[in-house]
Amino acid sequence: MKEFIRDFVTCPICKKEFSYDSVVSTAIKVSAYDLDLKPEYRGINVSLYNIITCPECCFTFQEKDRDIIIDYLDEEKILKIKKFLDYIKKMDIGEIDNTSKKSLQFYKNQLLIAAEIYSILNLPIEVSKILIKLSWYYRENDETEKELGILYYCGKILEKEFQNAEKEDDYIFCLFYLGYINYRFKRKNEAAKFLDTLLQKYKDSTNPYIKAAKFLRGEIV
Ligand SMILES: [Zn+2]
Repeated sequence: MKEFIRDFVTCPICKKEFSYDSVVSTAIKVSAYDLDLKPEYRGINVSLYNIITCPECCFTFQEKDRDIIIDYLDEEKILKIKKFLDYIKKMDIGEIDNTSKKSLQFYKNQLLIAAEIYSILNLPIEVSKILIKLSWYYRENDETEKELGILYYCGKILEKEFQNAEKEDDYIFCLFYLGYINYRFKRKNEAAKFLDTLLQKYKDSTNPYIKAAKFLRGEIV
């Protein structure tokens, strides 16, 4: 069975076309989820392939945004991004690899670069989503201190942003992770407050975060 297909995209910054390997949906197998909905994949670690980097200019973005990211760019942001990418090119980020053979180390660097790029694009909730994935990378490597450091930083962004979330899904995402992050830092009352707000407002929702929030709330006594 084929697990990857080769896809192509044009870099919105340098306009070069490049290829990347994308996981075919039938190859995605989740065996379990952690308390924060981190999927545990059987076989291919799908997360690795959700982020791509232009081999020409290092512009790095989530694959899901490939057709919309251009809408968030303007002249000023492009200039800032180019400046940041010039700085990145001088650092050792490893060989740019968008294939099925990508290393975990390069994936981590992609997350770090993408977090900065989405911050320049002024998309703080997307920055948090990327940081959550970085925290998962550290958890898988048993680097708890680094994981908590990232979660702490992420919590600061979410605290500031949750009331500005325009989309319902983003609002749910923010409150769920504020609950989870406070739970990880053993701030039970804070955690319960965010989860209760979420559960009262979306009692009957089928959103997976609501289901996970109910479960997580049960862990806080
Ligand atoms: Zn490029």
